[in-house]
Amino acid sequence: MIFDIEMIKKVYAQFPERVDKARQVVGRPLTLAEKILYTHLWDGTRWRELVARAFVRGKDYVNFAPDRIACQDATAQMALLQFMQAGKSKVAVPTTVHCDHLIQAKEGAATDLKVATEQSKEVFDFLSSVSNKYGIGFWKPGAGIIHQIVLENYAFPGGMMIGTDSHTVNAGGLGMLAIGVGGADAVDVMAGMPWELKFPKLIGVKLTGKLSGWTAPKDVILKVADILTVKGGTGAIVEYFGEGAKSLSCTGKGTICNMGAEIGATTSTFGYDEAMRRYLLATGREEVALAADAIAPYLTADPEVYADPEKFFDQLIEIDLSTLEPYINGPFTPDRGTPVSKMKEVARENDWPLEVQWGLIGSCTNSSYEDLTRAVSVVKQALEKRITPKASFGINPGSEQIHYTTERDGIIDAFEQLGTRVFTNACGPCIGQWDREGAEKQEKNTIVHSFNRNFSKRADGNPNTHAFVASPEIVAALAIAGRLDFNPITDTLLNDQGEAVKLTPPYGEELPSKGFAVDDPGYQAPAEDGSNIEVVVSPTSNRLQLLTPFAPWDGKNIIGAKLLIKAQGKCTTDHISMAGAWLRFRGHLDNISNNMLIGAVNAFNGKTNSVKNQLTGEYDEVPKVQRAYKAAGIPSIVVGDHNYGEGSSREHAAMEPRHLGVRAVLVKSFARIHETNLKKQGMLALTFANEADYDKIQEDDVINFLDLTSFAPGTPLHLEFVHKDGSKDVITCNHTYNAQQIGWFKAGSALNQLKEKSER
Ligand code: SF4
Repeated sequence: MIFDIEMIKKVYAQFPERVDKARQVVGRPLTLAEKILYTHLWDGTRWRELVARAFVRGKDYVNFAPDRIACQDATAQMALLQFMQAGKSKVAVPTTVHCDHLIQAKEGAATDLKVATEQSKEVFDFLSSVSNKYGIGFWKPGAGIIHQIVLENYAFPGGMMIGTDSHTVNAGGLGMLAIGVGGADAVDVMAGMPWELKFPKLIGVKLTGKLSGWTAPKDVILKVADILTVKGGTGAIVEYFGEGAKSLSCTGKGTICNMGAEIGATTSTFGYDEAMRRYLLATGREEVALAADAIAPYLTADPEVYADPEKFFDQLIEIDLSTLEPYINGPFTPDRGTPVSKMKEVARENDWPLEVQWGLIGSCTNSSYEDLTRAVSVVKQALEKRITPKASFGINPGSEQIHYTTERDGIIDAFEQLGTRVFTNACGPCIGQWDREGAEKQEKNTIVHSFNRNFSKRADGNPNTHAFVASPEIVAALAIAGRLDFNPITDTLLNDQGEAVKLTPPYGEELPSKGFAVDDPGYQAPAEDGSNIEVVVSPTSNRLQLLTPFAPWDGKNIIGAKLLIKAQGKCTTDHISMAGAWLRFRGHLDNISNNMLIGAVNAFNGKTNSVKNQLTGEYDEVPKVQRAYKAAGIPSIVVGDHNYGEGSSREHAAMEPRHLGVRAVLVKSFARIHETNLKKQGMLALTFANEADYDKIQEDDVINFLDLTSFAPGTPLHLEFVHKDGSKDVITCNHTYNAQQIGWFKAGSALNQLKEKSER
C-alpha cells in the first residue's frame, strides 16, 4: 500500500517550476536543501510573491508548509488534546501517530508488549480513538519505531515533514527535509496553519571513497559528531553528497541523518539516487519511485553545487570513506569519538570499565534489515567458531516488517542461539524503557549500543553506566569479546577449545533477497467519517485529561497581581516543566502542572521550589503557592532572567503557568520558541525595556498593568510594581506581539482564535 500518493504527486507536479523560479530569484545554482525549502513555502497560491527575494540564511524567519506530520506516543498526547480544541473535523495534512516510547524492555517482546499494553492501555486507547476520529494513521504498540515506519512507508525524496520527536530527521535518508518540532508547532500544521523556521545555514559533507570491512554508515556520523560536536550543526541543514554518498544504502543514509540530531542540526539530507530508488521499490512504492525518476535532477543539488561546494555551503567537511575507521563514541556524550584502534589507550587513560556487560542493537538509528544482517554475520561467527559471548545481547527490530522478515530469513534465530533477548519493535532501552537487572545498585559498568544518545542514565537509569555508541557490527563484536578495547580488525579471541580465532569482517544484505514480508504490520487506518467517533478519555484518569479552552481576556487591565517567583539565572523549559518521572503525566495538564517551575531558582532565597506565599507569608512549593493564588482568584506574574525558556520546545512549559493562572512572564530575554509558545497559549510574554529594572522587583510586590487596554504592536506596556513599604516603580515592558498574536491573547489562546474562525 502506498500512503498519500496523490499528495506526493502534487508536490512533484509543482516542484520543477518552483525550483526554476527560486533559482532565478536566488541568482545561482541551488543546493538540495534550498530546493526543498523554497518549494515548500507557505501558501501555494501566493507562492510567486513569497519567493520574490532570496532568504538570508541564519537570519530570516520563514513560513513553510510541510507535507506531513509524525507524532510518537509520548508527545502526541498533549499535541492531540490541543488539536481537539481547534474545532477541526480532520487534520489539514497527512499525520500519523506511533506507539513506540511507552513499552519497557525486560523479558522479551511477547511478555513486555503485553505488560505495556495493559499498563498504558488508556493512553493507547485515547491515541487510537483520537486518530480514528481526526483522520490520523495509527500505528499500534509493537508496530515499530516511528522513524523506521516513516522511512518504510511515508518518506519521499524532496518532501518536507515535521515530527514531534528529535529523530524525525531520520527521513533524510530518503531525501526529505524532516525536522523535529515541539507539539505546539505540530498542532499548528495539523490545524492548517503555517510552520515557521529560521532559514537554516548549510553544511556540506562531501563523501569520497567507499566503505569496506568493519566500517559502516554509523561511523560516518560518529566521525562527523566528533568533528562538529553536539552544537556544531545548530541552525544548519547538513547535506551529504559525493560518490561515497551514492555508495551508501538508503537505510545507511537514514542512520547518518538520524544522528544529525546529535550535532544539533536542524536536519540532514541526501540527494535522490539509485539506493533510494531500490529502497522505494523494495518497500512497495514503485509509483513513488517512478514519480521521483521523472523529476530526478530536481531532487538533488544543481551540478555546479557539488562541483564547487565551497561556494555554496557555509561550511564544508570532507570524509574519505575508504580510510574511515570504525568509531566508538562516548561515554555520556555521542560526540566523543574514539577510533576502534585507539580505544585500548584511551579507555585506560580515562579509567573506563573495560568489561562490556551488554551489547544492544536497535533504536530508530540502526534497526534496519541491513543492520541486523551485518550484525548477525558477526554473531554467526561466534556460533561457528565456538566463542561463547561474554556480554548479554539485546535487539529491538525497527518495525514488525523487519522483525517478520528477519525471522523468516533465520536472522532472529541466529541471534537467539546466542542467548539474545529479542525485545519489542519499539524504542525500549534507547529511551530508558529498560528494566535492567541490577541497575538500581548503580555500579560502574560499560555497555555498548547502536543507539544515538548515550547521556548519563539514558538507557538504564544508572548514572554509572558508561554507554558507548557504535555500529551494530562493532556492538556485536565487542559484546562477543566482552571487552571495550577489543579491536576486531587486529585482535583474536579464545574460543571454547582455547584456540585463538579471529572474526572476519561483517557482510550484510542491503535489502532482503526474498523481499520484505509482514503478516500484520500493526496499522489502523482512520475512519472515512470520524464525526460519530467518541474520543476515549476516562474522567478518572490520572494520565489523560481533556483540555478546557483557556478563558479569553476580559478587556481590562490586570490589577493586583502577585509576584509568583523572580527566577534567577538559567531557567530552561526543563526547569519550568521537568521531564523524568513527570513524563507519564504529559497527557494530563492538571497533574503535570504540579511540576511547574520547580527547577527555577528563587532570586530571593537561592532555593528551588521554595517561594513566599504572599497570602500567608509562608514559603512553600511553587505549584502550591500558585494554586493558592488561583483558588483566591488572584492573578500572578513570573519574572525571569536572560534566555528564559531555552531548551527543548515543550509546550507544557507554557501551558502549565497558563493553566494555573499566571498571566504574564516578564524577563530580561526569551528563548524565541518559548516566547512564541507563551503567546500561543494566551499569555503575556514581556521583556524589560531596561534590564536593570529586574533588580527593582521585590518579593512582596503587587503588580498593576497600566495600559493593557491599549495593547498594540510596537507599543511598550507599563507595569506598576507596588512594594511592601508602599513605594512604587513603574516599569516599561517591551513585547514582540504582532496584530495576529494580540488576537491570540484576546481570544485566550491561538487555538481559541482558530476555533472561532472555523466556526464563523
Ligand atoms: S528509538 Fe530512541 S532515538 Fe529513536 S525515537 Fe525511540 S527513543 Fe527516540
